Amino acid sequence: MNKYDYDLIAIGAGSGGVRASRRAAALGKRVAIVENLRTGGTCVMRGCVPKKLLVYASHFADDFEDSSGYGWQGADPGFDWPALIEAKNKELDRLEAIYHRILSEAGVEEIFATATVADPHTVEVDGSGGKSLTTETILVATGGWPKMPPIPGIEHVITSNEALDLARLPERIAIVGGGYVAVEFAGIFNSLGARVTEIIRAPQILRGFDDDVRGALAGEMENKGIDIRSETEVGEITKDGNAFSLKLKGGGTIAADLVMYATGRAPNTRGMGLEEAGVALDGKGAVKVDEYSRSSVGNIYAIGDVTERMNLTPVAIAEAEAMVKTAFEDTPTAVDYAGVPSAVFSQPPIGTVGLTEAEAGAVNEIGGGAIDVYVSRFTPMKYTLSGRGEKSMMKLIVERHTDRVLGCHMVGLDAPEIIQGFAVALRTGATKAQFDATIGIHPTAAGEFFTLREKRPEPGEG
Ligand code: NDP
Repeated sequence: MNKYDYDLIAIGAGSGGVRASRRAAALGKRVAIVENLRTGGTCVMRGCVPKKLLVYASHFADDFEDSSGYGWQGADPGFDWPALIEAKNKELDRLEAIYHRILSEAGVEEIFATATVADPHTVEVDGSGGKSLTTETILVATGGWPKMPPIPGIEHVITSNEALDLARLPERIAIVGGGYVAVEFAGIFNSLGARVTEIIRAPQILRGFDDDVRGALAGEMENKGIDIRSETEVGEITKDGNAFSLKLKGGGTIAADLVMYATGRAPNTRGMGLEEAGVALDGKGAVKVDEYSRSSVGNIYAIGDVTERMNLTPVAIAEAEAMVKTAFEDTPTAVDYAGVPSAVFSQPPIGTVGLTEAEAGAVNEIGGGAIDVYVSRFTPMKYTLSGRGEKSMMKLIVERHTDRVLGCHMVGLDAPEIIQGFAVALRTGATKAQFDATIGIHPTAAGEFFTLREKRPEPGEG
């Protein structure tokens, strides 16, 4: 006789929750997964996947333009936004159906409801009549949700959720924020023909990225016609007929047909009964966890964006795998967060792994060492005949006393695909000498990483 209805109830059917449920079910555990939106979660339904489909769509604008340099004449068939959204939605439906199928085949019970934690072993689900379900283990994998500052008129704005489903493309869009989401959508809307103003409160976009990367991308975005207003804050938004007016704190206004906020995301924990059940949250509402994703209540785990560790889909999946080993295989397993690569699907895109120059400099200052920096800027071969002015930027950061490559960054065509491979080199401790000894593939941009010979002069040097 089982003491509880289930061995595991996962709350949230995003990338993390789905992976943990399937893995636990494969071990013979009795698993239910509760979801109140769409199975697949943020990444598949409202984030990475639909966003990347829109990025692909917007790239055709450049490709049609570039094609004339290659002899193609009049190759611009015109763009149909509703057709794109319909095709994208069809693909999301297909993916959601696949998720339902794999969960069902794994023996995981899907419950379409909102869950609250009544006590460490009881989950209540709403819906027809509501039910109390008991379980040995609870996994909180509820992700996050866009957050916005509470300024007057904020009710007029959209977030990335709505941006992926607009009925029509706006003529003028103002995007507030300088993070991943803001720069990605600025690139999409700009390439598809909207006039984009990006408003950032900081001096530069993409806080936390390498400064050369930030500068290179901002320069290319501006060359493409995106108006980046730095050190600018919006005080109020008013609606004038079908348009909006953004009143800036320092004076002046910006007019737009649509206003999008991408000012970060907050963990989805509110109203879930977690604190009442003894689960400690941090000041931002994220579930506090140990290295094994265990909360302050021993049988309640949390993974993914709701823990605000490293908000990336593959990291949530790795946390799910580790959590199942810890909770159900008697093998406490922690995720190694070192050398996790990431990309920004901006235009041009960014790929990055390892330390920024500032981080590497700080580490070496403490250790008394020094770093060498190699930077290359070049026109990608594709743009020679087309005449597009866009440049790629590559950067390596090397620890001088060990010769180890600490950081590898790229802004430019294919950067995410290129950096994915270099992530293996960095994880395995490759040195600059090993980079230099590697023979590149010609002609490729990736091969440039093996030809960086000129150290950037240090401040004060020639
Ligand atoms: P980020 O936290 O990356 O960026 C938030 C941006 O909003 C920053 O530029 C920040 O400015 C600005 N901001 C915050 N509060 C305010 C405010 N009150 N007024 C004006 N500006 C403000 O959030 P995103 O929404 O872009 O992305 C959320 C998460 O999603 C990221 O953490 C990322 O991990 C994930 N993601 C990953 C992607 C990928 O891997 N390709 C793509 C999209 C999302 P400041 O710098 O001054 O603080």
